[in-house]
Amino acid sequence: MSPMAPWLQAQLKDLLAQRGHALLLAGPSGLGQYELALALARAWLCERPGPHGACGECGSCHAIDVRTHADLCALLPETLSLELGWPLDEGAQKEIDDKKRKPSKLIRVEAAREAVSFTQFTRSRGNTKVILVYPAERMNMESANTLLKTLEEPVGEVRFVLATDAAHQLLPTIRSRCQTHAMVWPGEVEALDWLLAQESAAGASRELARVWLQAAGGRPSDALAWATSGLQGPAWAQLPRSLARGDWALLNDWPAAQQLAVLQKLCHDLMAKAAGAPARFFPDEELPAAPRWTALAQWSRELMLAARSVEHPYSAGLMQEAWAARTRQVLASTGQVGA
Ligand SMILES: [Zn+2]
Repeated sequence: MSPMAPWLQAQLKDLLAQRGHALLLAGPSGLGQYELALALARAWLCERPGPHGACGECGSCHAIDVRTHADLCALLPETLSLELGWPLDEGAQKEIDDKKRKPSKLIRVEAAREAVSFTQFTRSRGNTKVILVYPAERMNMESANTLLKTLEEPVGEVRFVLATDAAHQLLPTIRSRCQTHAMVWPGEVEALDWLLAQESAAGASRELARVWLQAAGGRPSDALAWATSGLQGPAWAQLPRSLARGDWALLNDWPAAQQLAVLQKLCHDLMAKAAGAPARFFPDEELPAAPRWTALAQWSRELMLAARSVEHPYSAGLMQEAWAARTRQVLASTGQVGA
């Protein structure tokens, strides 16, 4: 495992000193919930843990690194399990291999049942078992209720770490069984130092790293994704004006969800500008004049609705054309005092 970001390291140390059997790591996306949850699980299961976490060398640490630890159950949506290299349950893997269905983007109730029975098997390695759930908001009602009983009255030494980007979407009964830890935001200097030390940011200037961090709204993991995508500073700064002209070139090849996320950022910043507040994602001076507030509010609602269904696009091309046209229309509807 690559070394953890220093602000995650500090949180890990604090969390290891806590006793509760169920932790909920909550905060907006991009702050490292999954990394922190995995580091906690690794430390809880480690044969020679120190105050700063797992040793990284014992059999248990190794088993986690190669995703085969018998006492760790990673309860993830199937799409994410596949992406992160966690094995699926045999039956599920076969259904997907046989093309009977696509991997699920939710945490399936079958997987939640597996997790519950996992807690009841004999231990194989040590005294502790760990269930890691991420992103916890991807449990539907049925999955969450399946897990709830075990969360309330675990059999033996079972510890839970749930991580979420949207704690408000969790069942209150799940939230109330966990000790909530609010993810800590890193400072700008700390985040930039970390970003520039990553492989995908190798050779980048601090100036460019700052653009990535701003494009990510200050969230380091998201900033790293921008670095990986090769986003260039001027292209990002000019994006609001390009979109106002109907120039969609930069966004063209991005996945629909990412295009939509950019529009939401632009909408956010224009609302901030209309309200006299500083922008968060784009340089202030590069924003076009703020459109009328009612137009922005309407656009913001539309974008939120679109975001809910963006993972099932009927036709990405058509959708993109519609967004491009709508974006131009909103940006042209200036009525506020603006630059
Ligand atoms: Zn270890």
